[in-house]
Amino acid sequence: MGIVIRPWQKDGLPSILKQKTYTIFDGGERMRTLPGLCLELLSEQKNSWLDLRNGCESLKDVRERDVPCRGFSVRLQYNPGRIRSSLASVGEKNAVERQCFLCLDHLPESQKGLLYRGEYLILCNPMPIFSSHYTVSHLEHRRQAITEHISTLLQLMAEFGSGWTVLYNGPKCGASVPDHLHFQAGPSGQMPVEKEIREEKRLILRTRIDGILLYRVRDLGREVVILEGDDPMAMEGAFQVFLTALKKVLLIEEEPMMNIAGFHEEGKWRLVIFPRRKHRPEAFFREGDARVVVSPGLIDMGGVLVTPVEKDFERLDAAAVEGIYGEVSLEASAVEKAIDAIV
Ligand SMILES: [Zn+2]
Repeated sequence: MGIVIRPWQKDGLPSILKQKTYTIFDGGERMRTLPGLCLELLSEQKNSWLDLRNGCESLKDVRERDVPCRGFSVRLQYNPGRIRSSLASVGEKNAVERQCFLCLDHLPESQKGLLYRGEYLILCNPMPIFSSHYTVSHLEHRRQAITEHISTLLQLMAEFGSGWTVLYNGPKCGASVPDHLHFQAGPSGQMPVEKEIREEKRLILRTRIDGILLYRVRDLGREVVILEGDDPMAMEGAFQVFLTALKKVLLIEEEPMMNIAGFHEEGKWRLVIFPRRKHRPEAFFREGDARVVVSPGLIDMGGVLVTPVEKDFERLDAAAVEGIYGEVSLEASAVEKAIDAIV
């Protein structure tokens, strides 16, 4: 059965938005869950938008290879479709010069989305890493930032529900469009780290903030901090406390570099935070054969390291992967200091 778009809902929208809106989600009714509507959007878009269909088809050609590292495991993904994204220039100057492909009036002709709570458009990603890969893009062109929008992330997590993950990439460490606020969403269970953080022996409970548990995770070759709780307001507060502590330790005013994966299961919110030191490893900037094209964002930090160049896919070994993580992750001492500043 197709979706009924209620004319009185859609009619009030500005014309460009009306044209780009496939359907609306305003909080859901029993038959109109957020993941259900997103999957309908995907199947509609595969029929009406050739680039998306091709992008999804190209996932069949993706090759994967597991690399066992010291204490953890990483899956390399050879995904040539991601080359543009991996090489994307994310500097400030370029951000002004290039056309923003998340702004409504620059969306491809056939692209439509799900209007989420009157503020975001949920779009199908035409260069997917997973079989159903969405971009949750703000209607307005405003900079990528988590501080003011953590409540949206928590709400999206709850409304996508179990079986899904909602992702955030900081503007300087993986966001492909750093000047246009967006999240991503996709099915959970795709990243090796999701399994690893369920192993109790790895979890170190470091503190509680207003009932929210804060953990560090051992032996992952990169820093991971988990916030877990069942009250979204308290989650928001604990996140801000952690963010403030990190800023203090790093002596910065701006948002600390980080990637976040959010999961919501059995009434619990879990934010898996990867604090970062830099976006790309030094090897990315080498010349010629020595160059390694990796550009780690959340999915890479989660253990699916995307290599759009075949040579890199074939040659990266455990030592190289550990080196990359060690280089781009924030160092353990800074994370410890930040947590100590809270306690
Ligand atoms: Zn924009």
